[in-house]
Amino acid sequence: MQKLEPRKRKVKVLATIGPASRSPAMLEKLLRAGADAFRVNMSHGAHADHAATIKAIRDLEKASGRPIAILADLQGPKLRVGTFKDGQAVIRHSGHFTLDRDPTPGDETRVELPHPELFEVLEKGQRLLINDGKIRLKVIKAEADRIVCSAEVGGVISDRKGVNVPDAEVPIPALTEKDRKDLAFAVSQGVDWIGLSFVQRPEDLAEARKLMGGYGALCAKIEKPSAVRRLPELLELADGIMVARGDLGVELDAWEVPPLQKKIVNAARNAGKPVIVATQMLESMIESPSPTRAEVSDVANAVYDGADAVMLSAETAAGDWPEEAVAIMDRIAIQVERDDAYLERVRLLDTPPDRTTADALSHSCMTIADTVSVSGIIVFTGSGSTARRVARERPSVPMLVLTPSVKTARRTALLWGAHAVVTKDIGSFEEMIAKGKRMALRHGFGTAGSKLIALAGVPFGTPGSTNLLHVVTLTGDELARHSG
Ligand code: PGA
Ligand code: MN
Repeated sequence: MQKLEPRKRKVKVLATIGPASRSPAMLEKLLRAGADAFRVNMSHGAHADHAATIKAIRDLEKASGRPIAILADLQGPKLRVGTFKDGQAVIRHSGHFTLDRDPTPGDETRVELPHPELFEVLEKGQRLLINDGKIRLKVIKAEADRIVCSAEVGGVISDRKGVNVPDAEVPIPALTEKDRKDLAFAVSQGVDWIGLSFVQRPEDLAEARKLMGGYGALCAKIEKPSAVRRLPELLELADGIMVARGDLGVELDAWEVPPLQKKIVNAARNAGKPVIVATQMLESMIESPSPTRAEVSDVANAVYDGADAVMLSAETAAGDWPEEAVAIMDRIAIQVERDDAYLERVRLLDTPPDRTTADALSHSCMTIADTVSVSGIIVFTGSGSTARRVARERPSVPMLVLTPSVKTARRTALLWGAHAVVTKDIGSFEEMIAKGKRMALRHGFGTAGSKLIALAGVPFGTPGSTNLLHVVTLTGDELARHSG
C-alpha cells in the first residue's frame, strides 16, 4: 500500500461507517481521502457486521502504518414508537393522536410507546417530538397507560421512529440492556473510544466507565438540555465530548445550537479534552457529489472554533458519495487552516495553563513555536496526556507524538494537530533525541536545518513526569546513520 503523508491540517475528520462504506476498498478510499478516525454506530447493524468493519479497519491500519481511532457509538436510551399496520400512518395537523401500551400495530389514531417510564413522567402541556422533530405533539391528557396528544405539526410517522421528550428528565438508565451488550462487544473488539448517547447526568458516565473496566476512552455526547446544564461535571468525567447537534437541535430549538456549539467547544478545549462537532455537516452530500455553500461554511466555522474533529454521519455511512464527502471536508479544513487569521481566531479562547510543570512546558512549546522558526513539536508520551496538554495550547506547528503504546497512538487520532507514531520504548536522553530527529525526518516534520521542539518526561515511562524541553536541529542525515 502506498505511503500516507501526514495530514496537511490539524483538525481531524471522523467518518461514520455503514453499508455505503464498510467494504475494505471503500475504507481505504476514505482513509486516503482524509478520514483519521471511524465511527461504528451501534444503533444500526448486527455485531457480525461491526466486527467485520473493525477487522477491516485494523487491517487497513496495519497496511498503512497509520494509527486509526475507532469510536463505537452506543445508541443510549433513545426512545422510539412501536410499529404500524402498514409500516406507516399519517398524523393529521391539529388532530388527536394517542400513545399507549398496546403492542398491536398502530394507525392514524394511535401507536404503542414501548417505554413504561414515560407514562410516569409525562405531563399535560409537555412536548413529544417524533422523527427528528418533524412531527410535534403536545400532551393534552396523561393517564397511566395512555397519553393523548394534539398534533401541533402532523405528518408521516413510520415504524420505530425516534421520540424526544425535551421537557421531561427521563428516569431511564444511561445504558439500556442493548447498550450493555454493545459495550461488552465493543470492548471485546478493542475499540479505542466509546461514545455514550443521551447522557443526562455525571452518574451516567460513571456507570459506563465502570462497565468499560479500564478499557478505552469515553466520549460523552451532548444532546440533552440536562447534559448542557451539567457540562462542567461531565467534562471532568469524560475523555472527550461530542457536540451531537442532531438530537440537540431536536431537544432544543435549532437556533439554540450554534451558541451552544461554541460554548461546548470552548469548555472542552479549556479542559484539554478532544471535542467533535457532529451531524448534518455535509448533509446534502448524502445525495449530491457537491455540498451547499452553507454546509461548507458550517464545516469551516467548526474548524475556526478550534474543534479537534469534525464528523460525517449518513454522508459516509449510507450516502452515495462517501469518498467525496471526506475529500471535501479535508479540503475545507486545509483552506481554513491556511488562513493567516485561523490561529488568531482559535486563540481568541484563552486557555491559561494549570499550575503544573507539564502545562508550563506545553505553554512554552507554544510560545517557542511562535518565537523562533520550528517545524514541529516532538512529544514523547506513554498515556498521551502530554500530547493533550500541548494540543490544548493550539500551537502553530504540528505535533509528532511518539509513544510505545498502540492504544495511545490510536486514541490520539482524534486529537487536534497530533500525528502519532508507535515506537519502541526509549532508554536514555541521547536515544530519545536521536530517535526524535530520525522520526521527524522520516515522517516529513522537517528537513536538513529544521529546528524542532522535543518534549518528554524523565525518567521515561513515568506518567505525569513531563519535565524536559529540548530544541533540536536536524542535520538531514539522521536516517543514513540508523536503521531502526
Ligand atoms: P447520532 O448522534 O447520530 O448517534 O444520533 C449524533 C447527534 O445526535 O447529533
Ligand atoms: Mn444523537
